[in-house]
Amino acid sequence: MNYQQFYKKSVDNPQEFWGEEARRIHWHAPYTRVLDDSNTPFNKWFVGGQTNLCYNAVDRWVESQGDSPALIAVSTETAADGLPVEKIYSFRELQAEVERAAAMMQALGVVRGDRVLVYMPMIAEATFAMLACARIGAVHSVVFGGFAANSLATRIDDAKPKLIVSADAGSRAGRPVPYKPLLDEAIRLATHKPEHVLLVNRQLVPMQLTPGRDVDYGTLREQHINARVPVTWLESNDISYILYTSGTTGKPKGVQRDVGGYAVALASSMQHVYCGKPGETFFATSDIGWVVGHSYIVYGPLIAGMATIMYEGLPIRPDAGIWWNLVEKYRVTRMFSAPTAIRVLRKQPPEFMRQYDLSSLQALYLAGEPLDETTSAWIAGELGVPVIDNYWQTETGWPILSVAKGIEDTPTRLGSPGLPMPGFKVKIVNELNGQACGANEKGVVAIEAPLPPGCMQTVFGDDKRFVDTYWSNFSNEQLYSTFDWGIRDSDGYYFILGRTDDVINVAGHRLGTREIEESISSHPNVSEVAVVGVEDKLKGQVAVAFVIPKDAAAMETTESRRLMEMEVMGVVDRQLGAVARPSRVHLVSLLPKTRSGKLLRRAVQAICEGRDAGDLTTIEDPASLAQIREAVAKG
Ligand code: ATP
Ligand code: MG
Repeated sequence: MNYQQFYKKSVDNPQEFWGEEARRIHWHAPYTRVLDDSNTPFNKWFVGGQTNLCYNAVDRWVESQGDSPALIAVSTETAADGLPVEKIYSFRELQAEVERAAAMMQALGVVRGDRVLVYMPMIAEATFAMLACARIGAVHSVVFGGFAANSLATRIDDAKPKLIVSADAGSRAGRPVPYKPLLDEAIRLATHKPEHVLLVNRQLVPMQLTPGRDVDYGTLREQHINARVPVTWLESNDISYILYTSGTTGKPKGVQRDVGGYAVALASSMQHVYCGKPGETFFATSDIGWVVGHSYIVYGPLIAGMATIMYEGLPIRPDAGIWWNLVEKYRVTRMFSAPTAIRVLRKQPPEFMRQYDLSSLQALYLAGEPLDETTSAWIAGELGVPVIDNYWQTETGWPILSVAKGIEDTPTRLGSPGLPMPGFKVKIVNELNGQACGANEKGVVAIEAPLPPGCMQTVFGDDKRFVDTYWSNFSNEQLYSTFDWGIRDSDGYYFILGRTDDVINVAGHRLGTREIEESISSHPNVSEVAVVGVEDKLKGQVAVAFVIPKDAAAMETTESRRLMEMEVMGVVDRQLGAVARPSRVHLVSLLPKTRSGKLLRRAVQAICEGRDAGDLTTIEDPASLAQIREAVAKG
């Protein structure tokens, strides 16, 4: 079968196609229907089937390859002498740790359907916690360990976890980043209170346990050292997890996923896109706090019977050879990273990677942001393997666009993430009327219902928001909007041209400009603010803020301006974390707006990047743009 036939079958006959793909996983009880699309967009996959993500990722492999590596946890953060600390768990050992964690959760009152919030650094216990939830039917919600107390508090209030699993500290560039004080502050801010907090003590920083609420992971683990916790069989459409997007609107969207459809989508993509085989090693350099971490650090590789590397540390510490050292050592066959990380590596002397034997590596996958041709060509030249751009979203859980090397050796095209993956009926449509665009005509990237298995079920606790946000952008209610611009060339290759809403990407961290604006607005002397993402060679983008102070005295002297700028940065630091901190804060007395009051964000961004500001016919007061130009020119 070639790609065309494969893809055509997936969209013409989804019942048959996904029925066949579903055989890649273990079903405890068979489903009665492959797809129930009677209540679009709330589609159900593998209705009535019973399965379990943890069983498919772990138990299933214990018999056939129990002693082969499953989880390879590497940290370059906690080593005293700069050498990485490495711990390998076989499938059998992983199973034992997961059962212990599951028993611990049960002892803390967690039952099927309860939410467990995981706020953890990249350590093995984070994976144990996720898999333990999956095992007992609890719903995990992993929150990226870099988020500050405010962001964490909103997620606690939305997910309402019974239990939070965390640690004393993360670590960055060898320096501990305390988590516990942040977590305590988040719980204090949140309306919802978890019953318990389970804490891994890495002994990086001292921590104070709150009696009655906080429990030490190591101590409780000892009490459950021989625990056997049977798998809870779940209906395919039960909830497996919630994962928040970066939240352009200020209130993050809780992407909710199912069990069976997700397992099948991952098993299928591991075969057709990532070509992983049992016994091989997969290395995704992402973080468990992001969707790539869920799909291709934890669940995907394990479901495919592969070993997976979980890496805590920077790509350039102790030196820029560290990732390639791991590729050599563990004979990694497939690697998954982000363009921003590759740009960082490109700045380093290539000798660091050239000293390792990379002959095991067969392909590098990059996702999360546009892959520029320079970066792509450079790394392809260094590695001598195909570099495959993947386009997808937290919402879809796995690639929308890629090339399916497992089906056919389709050539890639520089600047393009490729072709639709099975089941994704991708369309480029006019943003206003939803009509299909012609070849090479720019429009919004949309996907026609039904979305394939593995995609989000709904927004957690808010079906209306799911429909309003994703399915109400065109008169055709069968069209899902990705909120990205794109074109399709005459050969069917897609190109992504940026987003229709405003999110910035700082060194791989996605931040909503609205979220940063909201944070800045909380400063008592800020009357209005606009934040835009500005291109940055190293970080991809940085935030730049334009602030109208309430009190004009803040503008009078250089000293008072400087003070105000520092204060604004400090507010963002405290509320959202240092990644969100604007690289510049400009004080102005006017912001460019349309007559209907909408901020001309794109124009501000264009000026910051030295481009033409575009169509300004609707501007309320042209003097506002002059101010932006002046502020930017001053630097
Ligand atoms: P939010 O929905 O809260 O704004 P987000 O969209 O930033 O968050 P993700 O779901 O992680 O969070 O990112 C998906 C988006 O990243 C895509 O919609 C697209 O804009 C961008 N993206 C991902 N992969 C690629 C790629 N290969 N090329 C271009 N853009 C990409
Ligand atoms: Mg998005």
